[in-house]
Amino acid sequence: MTDMFNSEQVMSAESSVAAPVVYSVSSNVANDSVEEIKQQSNTLQKTLEWICYPLLWLIASVAVWATFTYKLEFGLVNVLFLFFVIAYLALFERLIPYEVKWQATKKEWLRDGIYLFITMMGGALSIAAIFAVASVVSPKTPSLPLGVEIVLAILFISFGSYIFHRLGHDWPWLWRFHGIHHAESKVNVGNNSVNHIFDVWGRRFIAQLPLIFIGISEQSLFVVSIFNTLQGYFVHANVNVRLGRLNYFIGSPEQHRLHHSVDIKEAGHFCVDVTLWDWLFGSYFWRKGRTPDAVGIKNPARFPPPEAILKCFIHPFKKPK
Ligand SMILES: [Zn+2]
Repeated sequence: MTDMFNSEQVMSAESSVAAPVVYSVSSNVANDSVEEIKQQSNTLQKTLEWICYPLLWLIASVAVWATFTYKLEFGLVNVLFLFFVIAYLALFERLIPYEVKWQATKKEWLRDGIYLFITMMGGALSIAAIFAVASVVSPKTPSLPLGVEIVLAILFISFGSYIFHRLGHDWPWLWRFHGIHHAESKVNVGNNSVNHIFDVWGRRFIAQLPLIFIGISEQSLFVVSIFNTLQGYFVHANVNVRLGRLNYFIGSPEQHRLHHSVDIKEAGHFCVDVTLWDWLFGSYFWRKGRTPDAVGIKNPARFPPPEAILKCFIHPFKKPK
């Protein structure tokens, strides 16, 4: 085949009459290769869409395994994993974006970096408060098998987060804190960190407090925090990943975009980890192919723009206009 094309091309160079024929042959060849490139890029795109979530799970599992095997510092692995997840999902947001116009600008990345620090401070404050309570109520010593502890910890943390998150939407005063997270009109991995420090503090404190009463070991808390970091950032990622029927059991970007919907009627999905509490409390709305028309809040002027970090911090304490 290649030889045939070559001989025709040679003929064309020598004969001006044959020129239009040659043009159409080379144009077909060009079209074929464009088509081929398109197909290859579609296959690559589909593979990336398919691989994004399971590969993240695989990496998280290896991180947990390595931490236990080599007795690594839980806190250090937690922080490294947090930065890794953000970088990993930011890369996939470039490769397989769900909505190109939701991609973060350089300026927004810088802003989100500051908010990430604030969110980490909120987490640290909640741990300090948990230890303060633990020193007074003398926590139970862990006695359950690790697997049982992990399941219990996931369910308790998920329940506490659900309640606090739902109240953050239903109680006007708490909404003044939580609304800062919703004010942005895009959903991406960076703006998972756009939070009011007390919103983070309150949610984590409420979610983790029961664990000291049932006696959950540090090992289980570590595994669950890796799981929650993975889920928290994954559900916000602007990636074109579909989980299919897994959506009924676990949080996903498909569900969480609905949570950020401007249309309050479909903005359920307060769980980002397991979907159990959304099912039980009637806030599960996702169906295959259901996507929000727009994300953000109906009246963004009621909140300072996320860029105004100090104004956002003061906002909940000011008198409503
Ligand atoms: Zn929310």
